Amino acid sequence: MDKYQKNSIVRIILSSVLVLILKVVEHRTTVFSDIIIRVVFYAVPCLIVGLEIFKRAIEGIREKNPLDESFLMSIAVIGAFILGDYFEGTMVMLFYRIGELFEDVASSKNREHIISLMDIRQDYANIEDKDGNLIRQSPDKVNIGDIIIVKPGEKIPIDGMVVDGLAELNTVALTGESLPRLVEAGDEVFSGMIDMNSVIKVKTTKTFENSTASKILDLIENSSNNKSNAENFITKFARAYTPFVCTLSILIIVVPTIIHIILGESLNLAGNFYKALTFLVISCPCAILLSVPLCFFSTLGRASKSGVLIKGSSYVEGLSKLKTIFFDKTGTLTNGVLTVKKIECIGKEYTNEDILYYTACCESLSNHPIAKSIVSEYEKKLDSGKISRTIDKSQIKDFVEESGIGIHAKVDGKAVSVGNKKILSKTNISYDENIESGTIIYCIIDNNLYGYIVLGDEVKPQSKKELEKLKTLGIGNLIMLTGDNDTVAKQVSGELKISKYYSSLLPADKVKIVDEYKLAVNDKEIIGFVGDGINDAPVLARVDIGIAMGALGSDSAIEASDVVLMDDNPSGIAISIRLARKCMQVVYQNIIFAIAIKLLCIVLSGLGVVGMNAAVFADVGVMILSVLNAMRLML
Ligand code: AMP
Repeated sequence: MDKYQKNSIVRIILSSVLVLILKVVEHRTTVFSDIIIRVVFYAVPCLIVGLEIFKRAIEGIREKNPLDESFLMSIAVIGAFILGDYFEGTMVMLFYRIGELFEDVASSKNREHIISLMDIRQDYANIEDKDGNLIRQSPDKVNIGDIIIVKPGEKIPIDGMVVDGLAELNTVALTGESLPRLVEAGDEVFSGMIDMNSVIKVKTTKTFENSTASKILDLIENSSNNKSNAENFITKFARAYTPFVCTLSILIIVVPTIIHIILGESLNLAGNFYKALTFLVISCPCAILLSVPLCFFSTLGRASKSGVLIKGSSYVEGLSKLKTIFFDKTGTLTNGVLTVKKIECIGKEYTNEDILYYTACCESLSNHPIAKSIVSEYEKKLDSGKISRTIDKSQIKDFVEESGIGIHAKVDGKAVSVGNKKILSKTNISYDENIESGTIIYCIIDNNLYGYIVLGDEVKPQSKKELEKLKTLGIGNLIMLTGDNDTVAKQVSGELKISKYYSSLLPADKVKIVDEYKLAVNDKEIIGFVGDGINDAPVLARVDIGIAMGALGSDSAIEASDVVLMDDNPSGIAISIRLARKCMQVVYQNIIFAIAIKLLCIVLSGLGVVGMNAAVFADVGVMILSVLNAMRLML
């Protein structure tokens, strides 16, 4: 509890005791028959609890933005004192302060809870000095390439690569995945992962501020900038609402007075004034203003617990309305780890080994999953002694990678092009005899096709189940987009029961298909795209909700997307949609509940059934219930 909250408690207790004493003593002594003395005596508990609110109201007037809830409360209390309802006026302030205290504690607890969940940043790094002693250093002083030591139980402070040691890492705070990840020399590790059992040495590859943990925390902290329509509506609503309510309360006094004058009846100014004040108190919109942002914040926190980062409330709203999802195939629905199934040479000039060598040389400078598989196949053969020629990167010149097609480069002085069928037409080679099933990478040397490599990929074990979950959530329109050939696309979409697919696409074609779809539905449908972030940035940016999967460590994917699944597991998609829908449900529940209770109170106070105390009590009650309802989303 902070200083202001403690101060509030003391003031509330003091003021309550004083008011009770005054109420009891009031009827037993004649001292209180003097109005001045009553005002002075009641003003003390009222000011004890309400001074801060009056100050805020004056500040609002000074800053030319007077019509907020402090102003509404101050007017109501001053009005009650003018009418001689000192006890009620003081109670209004007391209830209001109790409600405010509750809200303050609830939301700061919620924030603290989320921040503690997000406690993934380590505030020191261990560095070895010349004598081998460990010194703790502030992680922002560690340079890229420095060696840091992570001990069991510690969080990794900075992204890097293990250079020594073997350990199990707990990645749950980053990915939501509870199974530990085993790492050894050569493996990448990310800040925020917790070393569970043994010492490892890590060579840093990023600075502290560019490391995963810092980036994630920045995203969460800035997520409130992306306000949802509901939040924007409420901000606008509040701006128009208070002046509207003030005008109405003036009318509550003026209209009956005019009617009484016209009808020649006696005026009931005090009664109308009281009704107007009660109306002001009931109309205070704080329950909605406080609970709606809390709903979104709780949902963002809850999602991050499952390894899903949603970059703002607007995306929560979008996720809840998703109707159509486009999927990238490789690395998203399939493992993306292609394995070489077959190497075939055409003609007698080159052997299978040569075809693999020239292709691997070109791919050694690329980051594409296909490149990684071919290079790893080459290295495997090298390690087992099946081949002897090592790849000399200095002999690879004029490297050009064409997205969605392949690579051109000069290897040992020969012009080599490797890639899919499109590379054949680019180099004016016709070859139609291929009946292989799988991803085929052709190898062209000095303008002749000398062979090809067939790669196979496997569908992720969770993909089928997750797509079914999406269908049960009412998202039946699932479309697969792939740069791979038609045979592979047909096989994968059949296996996953995907309604539609497009194959042999270039990155620009994916954007075109999404654009055409948007046009066909008149931009009225919320559409999403799920990709692994590699080459997907243009589509991720084009759709309403861009979801990047397995984004841990990939800055570009994190930047380009709206929703980030830290893990490779597609289960985060259905989880985030469910959480988003629950959030929107609670938001609307709170809005409807608050408005309904307020309308009821307005009617009852108009009929004279309830007074100002009941009105404040209802207002504070609605606020407390709305905040509690919002906090359910954290569970
Ligand atoms: P992508 O757009 O990354 O899904 O790639 C689509 C297709 O382009 C792949 O299936 C390959 O046929 C081809 N391709 C892209 N990059 C490469 C590469 N580095 N080496 C070989 N083929 C590639």
